[in-house]
Amino acid sequence: MRLIEGPSGVWYLGPGGTLLMPRRFHRQGALTDEGRAELEKSQIGTPRSRRHYSLTVVTSSACNLGCPYCFQNTGVAAPGRFDPPRIPKRVLDVPMIERIIDFTTGRLADGGYDRLFVLLFGGEPLLNRAGCRELLVRLGRLAPVSASMVTNGVLLRPRVAKELESAGLKSAQITFDGPRELHDALRATRSGRGTFDTIIENLVAVQRETDLRLTLRLNTTAEGLPLLDDLIRGLAERLNPQRCFLDIAPVLNYADLYQDVLARSSGEVDTILAGYATALECGFEVAWPSGGACGFCGERDGATGAVINADGTLYSCWETIGKDGYEVGSIEDGYQPYPPQRWVSCGEFATEAAAPSASKAFDDALTVGLLELLRARRREQAVARA
Ligand code: SF4
Repeated sequence: MRLIEGPSGVWYLGPGGTLLMPRRFHRQGALTDEGRAELEKSQIGTPRSRRHYSLTVVTSSACNLGCPYCFQNTGVAAPGRFDPPRIPKRVLDVPMIERIIDFTTGRLADGGYDRLFVLLFGGEPLLNRAGCRELLVRLGRLAPVSASMVTNGVLLRPRVAKELESAGLKSAQITFDGPRELHDALRATRSGRGTFDTIIENLVAVQRETDLRLTLRLNTTAEGLPLLDDLIRGLAERLNPQRCFLDIAPVLNYADLYQDVLARSSGEVDTILAGYATALECGFEVAWPSGGACGFCGERDGATGAVINADGTLYSCWETIGKDGYEVGSIEDGYQPYPPQRWVSCGEFATEAAAPSASKAFDDALTVGLLELLRARRREQAVARA
């Protein structure tokens, strides 16, 4: 749950949605009695009942790219090379898929869930395309599956996308680091080849030949921030923006391996919000910020979801997959006793460049700025329809 004051009032972001309340409902960081009554009436403070169990499964922990900021790097690349050392290589095979089915059957029964949300994850999941497909097909025999994939897009050719779509894939998230030159300098293959043109060509064909929804994640480094507007307009020229969500994500510094991160200043907030405004103007969809708990790591020990490496080891969150000392169990033995600090949630693993107070102020300013932007947009659309 978050409460943030903005120009239009106080925004409450809770498990059941987002609510804008008058400023008088908020005092010294908390809701007044009147505010709490309003919240109760709206039911925004109550989590929506979940019917689906959330599974993140790594099909290949290896990756064909060598992004210098990757949270799965264990060191920096040698000078002149593009292949930083990574977490150990693991590949999902059929016997392991069978064990994942057994594990998932138990979780569905324990929690009374009757649907599955599956996130195919890596490394690069499409390095094990057969594993992706087999996993979706077999899970689909357990319960209706809605699936998404985090992929770098280099191997997302239309034939592959169609094959996975027929097995239940509904969407894919693909990242860009900037316009071509900057993207190719950061998101290069492990032998140093640029990937921008290949990814764009793949996405154009995927939009033409499938119904998959795309989420374009725009990674933002200090160097890339001034180029954000160019990148968004360039993407809108090549892709159908109406079929894409767009998300702007400041790159984080994991394990002190990457330093070109944002300073978390108010000027940077303004530039990112201007990027979102450009995205909306171009026709991209932008999601409302949410205050709900993450389905994977929001509750401990697999109550609402699980994160599974290709070797069957359980982790709390995608950020710690494959990292020594962050295992919380295995699909054979279930969740095992572990020190409390091992349960890491989204965003907690990164080393912040800014002081915690500056980071919180940055996140709050960005969230409230985006909420105000989306609200203004919704009002404009309502006026236009009237
Ligand atoms: S594409 Fe993703 S998994 Fe691969 S190196 Fe880059 S950030 Fe890491």
